Amino acid sequence: MTSFSLNKTSNTNSENENKLHFQYLPDFAQFILETHLEDYIRMAIQFSREENVPILKLFSDYTDNQLVELGRDTHRNFLLALANNQIKSYIESLLNNYISNTMPKLDQNDVMAEDITVGAFLRRKTFRFLLPGYTSDPFLLNSIIDEVDRLTTWTELISYEAYIDIQKNKLKSINSELTQTLDELQNKTTQLESLNASLESKNSELESINKELASFNYIASHDLQEPLRKIQIFANRIIENGTQDFPDETLSYFDKIIAASSRMQELIDDLLTFSQTTANNDKFAHTDLNSILEDVKIILSPAIDEKKVIIETTHLPELYVIPFQIQQLFLNLINNSIKYSREGIIPHIRITSAIIKTEKIIGAVNLPAKKYIEISIEDNGIGFKQEYSEKIFGLFQRLHNREKYSGTGLGLAICKKIVNNHNGFIIAKGSPQNGSVFYVYLPIAKTETYSVHLSI
Ligand code: ADP
Repeated sequence: MTSFSLNKTSNTNSENENKLHFQYLPDFAQFILETHLEDYIRMAIQFSREENVPILKLFSDYTDNQLVELGRDTHRNFLLALANNQIKSYIESLLNNYISNTMPKLDQNDVMAEDITVGAFLRRKTFRFLLPGYTSDPFLLNSIIDEVDRLTTWTELISYEAYIDIQKNKLKSINSELTQTLDELQNKTTQLESLNASLESKNSELESINKELASFNYIASHDLQEPLRKIQIFANRIIENGTQDFPDETLSYFDKIIAASSRMQELIDDLLTFSQTTANNDKFAHTDLNSILEDVKIILSPAIDEKKVIIETTHLPELYVIPFQIQQLFLNLINNSIKYSREGIIPHIRITSAIIKTEKIIGAVNLPAKKYIEISIEDNGIGFKQEYSEKIFGLFQRLHNREKYSGTGLGLAICKKIVNNHNGFIIAKGSPQNGSVFYVYLPIAKTETYSVHLSI
């Protein structure tokens, strides 16, 4: 707790003792104490009302008599101190009361400000009012007025100093609070930095694992290609060189070798595609999906012609995508629609696109974009049970008989990876012996514009 002492601060205080020593005022104070205390208090209250002193607002319910009782001790103590020429220690204790704010319900700043601005002024007014009843001697009158002025000036000065002291201490405590907050903030920043660093190291660990995995896939697939090609070449050469010397059983073994090796070739190709399907920002480009679709139709034209497939499509948008990955996506999905068609029924594939607000996407939670392009690929094929709609996107997951439907079980896993690379997602709906629909959702960036014919 800080305390105020008249000797402790500026050099003016050393003079205070003299300036606060009075020759005529003590007798006058004694006179008021003995015969006019009641008048003095009542006058002080009246002048306070005239000046609209803020402290009175706290006592607005009090009558004048109650106020006199309330102020009696304070005024008596002040006059006693003046009578005994001990005004210095009186002011000190008064200011220390302000500083420690021992007065209930009062803000020390208010009290201090009031004391500085009006308190001393009121006291002077009250003294002057009572002075004619004390003496008519002009010399004494003038001397007392001088001393009252001196008292007023010095009380004001001292109060200002004490007020500045209080503000300084307040600033100091605010400063130390701020320093503490700053320290806490710095601690939090350090914690965050270390978290960030560990996240970064985890990230780079993950990146290097990913790279290792990709290069493992790549090397493994390439190293597998070589012996496989040799098996295929030599098996074909043996058959080309004449099969007449071989018994039927041996020939059927050769057929099996060739079929197995071409299945393996397919698997290696798909594995390679899967491992090479990475999110590469450099490969993104504005791409017309209609022309991608046309390319896919050309690639698949033998199967399309053979099964007389009908492909119906609405106008597709231009999107900022990785073109060859989107081509792979369309290729896999349309190829599946053709492959998993029903016997005796002409495959009918409908491709549509629409802009969809995120909240309209059923089952979608926490999606980052506000709008998505929805591309749906619907067929009238053999379909599948809805319960497998997620499983089919897993690696090597196949629902249908391998003898009847060729495949590696990687096509949809590749589709999912491609869509993920574009920050989108893919869902499937199936109905056995009825058909399936694959919905691809790709986020729309704010800056992109689309010419999409709404079809849903
Ligand atoms: P696959 O090489 O077996 O076609 P995919 O990953 O492309 O592998 O598909 C996984 C499985 O999902 C398929 O084996 C098939 O059972 C089912 N499937 C995929 N597309 C369709 C479709 N359009 N209609 C019915 N079933 C499908």
